[in-house]
Amino acid sequence: MPGKNLSRDEAQQRASILAVDGYQVRLDVTSAPDQAAGTFRSTTTVTFRCSQPGADTFLDLLAPAVRSVTLNGRALDPATAYDGARVHVDGLAAENVLTVEADCAYSRTGEGLHRFVDPVDGETYLYTHYEPADARRVFANFEQPDLKAPFTFTVTAPAAWDVWSNAPHENVIAEGDARTWEFAPTKPISTYLTAVVVGPYHVARDHYRRELADGTALEIPLSAMCRRSLAPHFDADEILGVTKLGLDFFHEQFDYPYPFGKYDQAFVPEYNIGAMENPGCVTFREEFVFRSKVTDAAYEGRANVILHEMAHMWFGDLVTMRWWDDLWLKESFADFMGSYGLIGARTRYSSAWVTFANQRKAWAYRQDQFPTTHPITADIRDLEDAKLNFDGITYAKGASVLKQLVAYVGSEAFFEGARRYFKRHAFGNTELGDLLEVLEETSGRDLKAWAAAWLQTSGVNALTPQVTTDSEGRITELAVLQDGEVARPHRIAVGLYDRDADGALVRTGRIELDVTGTRTVAAEAVGLPRPALVLLNDDDLTYCKVRFDEESLETLRTGLGDIHDDPSLPGTGQEGPDRPIGLARALAWSAVWNLTRDGLMPARDYVALVLRFAGQEGNIGVLQSLHAQAKTAVDLYADPAWRGEGGRLLADGALRELREAVPGSDHQLAWARFLAQTAGGAEHLGLVRGLLSGSARIDGLEVDQELRWSLWLALAASGQAADEELAAELDADNTASGKRHYTQCLAARPTAEAKAAAWSAVIDSDELPSALVEANTAGFSIPAQRDLTALYAAPYFKLLERIWAERTIEIAMRIVGGFFPIAQTDEQTLAEADAWLAGHPGAAPALRRLVLERRDDLARALRAQACDRA
Ligand SMILES: [Zn+2]
Repeated sequence: MPGKNLSRDEAQQRASILAVDGYQVRLDVTSAPDQAAGTFRSTTTVTFRCSQPGADTFLDLLAPAVRSVTLNGRALDPATAYDGARVHVDGLAAENVLTVEADCAYSRTGEGLHRFVDPVDGETYLYTHYEPADARRVFANFEQPDLKAPFTFTVTAPAAWDVWSNAPHENVIAEGDARTWEFAPTKPISTYLTAVVVGPYHVARDHYRRELADGTALEIPLSAMCRRSLAPHFDADEILGVTKLGLDFFHEQFDYPYPFGKYDQAFVPEYNIGAMENPGCVTFREEFVFRSKVTDAAYEGRANVILHEMAHMWFGDLVTMRWWDDLWLKESFADFMGSYGLIGARTRYSSAWVTFANQRKAWAYRQDQFPTTHPITADIRDLEDAKLNFDGITYAKGASVLKQLVAYVGSEAFFEGARRYFKRHAFGNTELGDLLEVLEETSGRDLKAWAAAWLQTSGVNALTPQVTTDSEGRITELAVLQDGEVARPHRIAVGLYDRDADGALVRTGRIELDVTGTRTVAAEAVGLPRPALVLLNDDDLTYCKVRFDEESLETLRTGLGDIHDDPSLPGTGQEGPDRPIGLARALAWSAVWNLTRDGLMPARDYVALVLRFAGQEGNIGVLQSLHAQAKTAVDLYADPAWRGEGGRLLADGALRELREAVPGSDHQLAWARFLAQTAGGAEHLGLVRGLLSGSARIDGLEVDQELRWSLWLALAASGQAADEELAAELDADNTASGKRHYTQCLAARPTAEAKAAAWSAVIDSDELPSALVEANTAGFSIPAQRDLTALYAAPYFKLLERIWAERTIEIAMRIVGGFFPIAQTDEQTLAEADAWLAGHPGAAPALRRLVLERRDDLARALRAQACDRA
């Protein structure tokens, strides 16, 4: 569709001549309960000024039909004005009123106004999701972040439903079977941040109050909602509790009163992402409403997201990037604030920085080593570029770099900079230079070189210690070697660890220094006894891959699990207010995983470390990462000849730890899930079946609905679940989640027919919502079934361009990523990927990027296999 992929140049041009004074948007969704009705009525009236009277412009709109277009009282013919993506208008006056009346489509892909019917009770639910540019699927607008305006929404919906939007409602007018909700005008915001949530949602209400410095009080009505059928599982008190702690904390830090009046948080079905920071009306994926037991890592993750979205009310909503090049200006900050806030707001999640080091950074390292990596401040030519940049660089690397910036300028200068930034740019748009300006003011440092090294280049450095000693075992030199395309300034801590009397590896020394250039000497280390373990980037201040010298690596092989940094242990030199328990061990785990991914440690050695030490890992989030990584090590990185044995070792280990775990603990649940993921032999599958039927029991392990589905998946993938059994489980759990799990189980069956059906469900129809596309691709792509799926590699490459052209980008991204034949991990598949890339230089850049990244995963797996074989 020409014009659908708005370019930066076009956006700049439009912003250079237009200023928007306001939108009136009327939506009529009374047709929503009728599933046969595909559209709803949408009427936009936008009032705007033009600095070049007589000029042309366009509104963005993706709608099946446009009924009328009226500019300054003059009716334009929709047949000529509307081209399917844009409403073109010419002859602008200095002051304009433009009205567009359209029939817009209900979405099944989570883009625009999504419609969902609950299988439990038949109720219909609607919500919007727009970022970066899907507001135009719901109403005509100037779809770019720097044309901010106040929006006034009016929504007509079935009488039994409620409606929420960014602003509070002012009137609700009943008429027949419908009610019309009139909302107050919003503050000036960007189009992608507008929102409506409509339906018979269950809602919990609360209230936040804060005395401000000027003697007035800030009152914020709070609410949290979810589908009615999820209400019994909805722990709104916990959600609203974190919300209030966050509001306290961000007010203290940001010194700018929450600007959007009320704060609603809607947990919505079939949501494509984690959450979205719509001002005053945040939307979350409803999987954050836990209907079965989950580990504390899941609660921490949800609290992190709540704080991430809340930080956006300032970073992103109050002050917004001018164009998507500076997406990091909001996402890196929000990602950083998610973890920082968990600690600062005194939530119970005191391990937030361990999780960050272990999980967020793993995402960044992976993304930053793709050939498609990019600087944190990116070059975003158009909306398709923008769509793919919600990635590990923009979020996790950016947040890591901000953490390094805090270490570099100090937290006082950092937050004082943020406070000035909000006051100076409130309700405006910014670029990199605006942020550097305030930080230079408050830190007194020239940050241009820092920004050039960290924000405007790509790639990750590896830091390696080089230790020489004298004949008495004292350090004569400790140098830090830096490699990578660009050498950066790193503020780091070097941890020195030795065995204590009980055999624990404890920190006996810590040296903080600035690493610059390719070799930096830590002068303080001279004369110290050579420790068993030298841990670079201890305390995780910078963003880098950590390597080890030979002696340290040998220490890890025999004692990784013995690293003990519990500050409550007296006399261990561990004390320090900001040192979360388990961080050093998490850093060591992260480092050995990077070695494995880089083909520097054989996959079977990594698996051996996990089997030996994971049972001692106290941090539940780290343990769950180890499970996922060990599985990847066996599936992709191990010599194929060893895969079978590796898989058996993992399953045996899972069973052993499951039996030894504390009854009822999170660790027990994590090991039970891991058993389900690895079970293959008769003994393991027998236990799985026994747990499902109740004939086997593990003390303290509750086999609840989500765990049941994990166990069924193990049986289905092994060909040991009868179709009737799976259907019976769906009957017992005929919910949205149940449908997803059931779909995945069907796709996971090890038969040619099952693979063909899953493939066809995704490829031959565009009816599936993204959640069911994912369920099919995940079930289809079970690595151990690579012989069954091999014959789909060739059709996959043939179909790529057609899929990209025909599907919405959300769905296309899932198909391209989910069906890539990664499990084949052979030279032939790599050659097929290369042939496609060589033969399609003109394919959409975003599509090429996805294929390049998956191809890189495959090439990495082959390198790791070669290491494991050697
Ligand atoms: Zn965000």
